[in-house]
Amino acid sequence: MKIISGIKDMQIEAKKQMKLGHSIAFVPTMGFLHEGHISLVEAARKQNHIVVMSVFVNPLQFGPNEDFDRYPRDIKRDEELAREAGVDILFYPHVSEMYPDDRTTTLTVNRRVDTLCGESRPGHFDGVATVVLKLFQIVLPDRAYFGLKDAQQVAVITGLVEDFNVPVEIVPCPIIRESDGLAKSSRNVYLTPSERSDASELSNSLRAAKEAVNNGESTAHEIKKLVESKLQETVGTIDYVEVLSYPELKQIETIDEDIIVAVAVQFSAARLIDNVIITRSGIPIGV
Ligand code: AMP
Repeated sequence: MKIISGIKDMQIEAKKQMKLGHSIAFVPTMGFLHEGHISLVEAARKQNHIVVMSVFVNPLQFGPNEDFDRYPRDIKRDEELAREAGVDILFYPHVSEMYPDDRTTTLTVNRRVDTLCGESRPGHFDGVATVVLKLFQIVLPDRAYFGLKDAQQVAVITGLVEDFNVPVEIVPCPIIRESDGLAKSSRNVYLTPSERSDASELSNSLRAAKEAVNNGESTAHEIKKLVESKLQETVGTIDYVEVLSYPELKQIETIDEDIIVAVAVQFSAARLIDNVIITRSGIPIGV
């Protein structure tokens, strides 16, 4: 596994791979790797010659009172896990090279961000779109792999590549969970033992929502009430519970299209998100 931190070096390596006729897969992450990240690498390896993973805690997507400084980091461990997973190139850029002081342009995301994390974390998706577009220009991938754990991110990035005609295929991948259903997340390490046991209620509430829809409940408000009632039993504070169309993320009254049920719960030192996408066809989204 090659480790590259210079932007130019990464571009030169990507062009070399292209000349060799190799397809490039890209897995962008903020590091502190877990099985969720590794599942993206596995999907990427199946479809491409070369897998590039980036580890970059992107300051632009954190608000002033969020956890940028204390976001968990362990690059040595990440290197080992990435190597074991079969990553070919680990790209580990520096903040100062990614964001010099004198930027001429900025990106603003206009749609799909007036709800969920876009509403709770103003500017978050402007930062995500900016870093992803930059990383795409540096890594020059054919395909990029994103987890549906961050389903709003998938919706925003899909819009971004359409808007800017970016020649990258976006591949959504399913959510990887602990045995009790808790979605794997780098932030789970910040849960206290009692919060950790309560945290499985996020996925339990979403499973109940899916069951209710499959059993014929078609009123979005009823699904929202059901999920809220389950989450109120946790020690966390509900940030949001929403039932929306997917990927447009519009409010709906009646469930008659593909939808997402999405939740965010604030615990003492970690804000957790989870979701389920329920398609009309019953076929899950993602590889
Ligand atoms: P992060 O390092 O949290 O920015 O995540 C990097 C990528 O891994 C994103 O595309 C996430 O959606 C994805 N990811 C994070 N957690 C999971 C999970 N539990 N299952 C699947 N994908 C995940």
